[in-house]
Amino acid sequence: SALRVAIMGLGSYGTRVAEAMQSSKMAKLTGVISGTPSKIKEWQGKYKIAEKNCYNYENFDQIKNNPDIDAVYIITPNALHHPQTLRVAKAGKHVICEKPMAINAQQGKEMVDACKKANVHLLVGYRMHFEPKTLEIIRMRKEGELGKVLFFQGLSGFTIGDPSQWRLNKQLSGGGAMMDIGIYSINGARYMLGEEPIWVTAQETKTDRAKFKEGVDETIQFQLGFPSGAMASCLSTYTMNNLDRFFLNGYKGFAELQPATGYGPILGRTHKGELTQPHITHQTLQMDEMAAIILQGKKPVVPVDGAEGVKDLSIIDAIYQAVKTGKKIDLKV
Ligand code: NAD
Repeated sequence: SALRVAIMGLGSYGTRVAEAMQSSKMAKLTGVISGTPSKIKEWQGKYKIAEKNCYNYENFDQIKNNPDIDAVYIITPNALHHPQTLRVAKAGKHVICEKPMAINAQQGKEMVDACKKANVHLLVGYRMHFEPKTLEIIRMRKEGELGKVLFFQGLSGFTIGDPSQWRLNKQLSGGGAMMDIGIYSINGARYMLGEEPIWVTAQETKTDRAKFKEGVDETIQFQLGFPSGAMASCLSTYTMNNLDRFFLNGYKGFAELQPATGYGPILGRTHKGELTQPHITHQTLQMDEMAAIILQGKKPVVPVDGAEGVKDLSIIDAIYQAVKTGKKIDLKV
């Protein structure tokens, strides 16, 4: 039987996930958690969601007593992920949480501990970890087809609109472009190189101090150093549009993806030619795979668990520290 999922936060990405889940063989949307009664009504009509499976932000702890919901997919503003995950874990349900899993590594660790204690899974919405072209490059690197790889470049950005949105409010976002889109380059550097970084350096640029207030980063360039001697050179920005490119250089070959992390189709090539793996709607594939992880104990090629989310947040913490101090920051791995 399928994993029965309630979505918390019926915003733009929640809507995309709900649509994609309609084509999932392994996951089924059975509940909603929202502060907006009119949205709940709309979703009930569209997805045949029973009245008893509808909750708001005050009463969702009662999900504990609902046998028709196995997992809650948290798709709310970043700063809410931590308190909401703790409540869902306490209610004894599995948690799927959007990226960034929290707004710092300390919160991420608390979420991992809470889910462990409650004996529920904690998975982070890293949809690229299931994407076929991405996985093909990882396979090539693992099997030595690229030779020794010493360089990754990751460019992640888009131009952000409405200055009043939560993404530009530190209270809700925890930061700026880095939390939202730069995290793709951090995560990509780690899965493409297959190592954990040991140091970071970073430089910030701000062109608009009214729009990007204190604590909300606009553009940050950063560099990561890895134990093998490999380096990653990355850019995270809210002021350059359609910036979405990964490049991996090895002694025997290369791989590049552009777009690398958008909703797809992902496009790319290597020294051997064009990548031709099929495009599958990322969120459909992700829900199938996450259901298999939760229900069947399947092990993904690239982890999507809470510990994986904490690794990215530790790097983000260090990047912000590097920007602030102007110093190279050592990472504890
Ligand atoms: P959104 O603004 O479209 O939706 C957020 C939802 O949270 C809204 O429905 C809003 O009503 C609700 N909400 C609940 N409490 C709120 C509060 N106190 N303040 C503001 N809104 C509140 O945002 P989104 O684009 O859907 O992003 C939601 C999360 O999903 C973010 O963490 C984001 O990083 C993540 N996301 C992931 C991907 C991906 O590809 N994995 C893509 C987009 C967004």
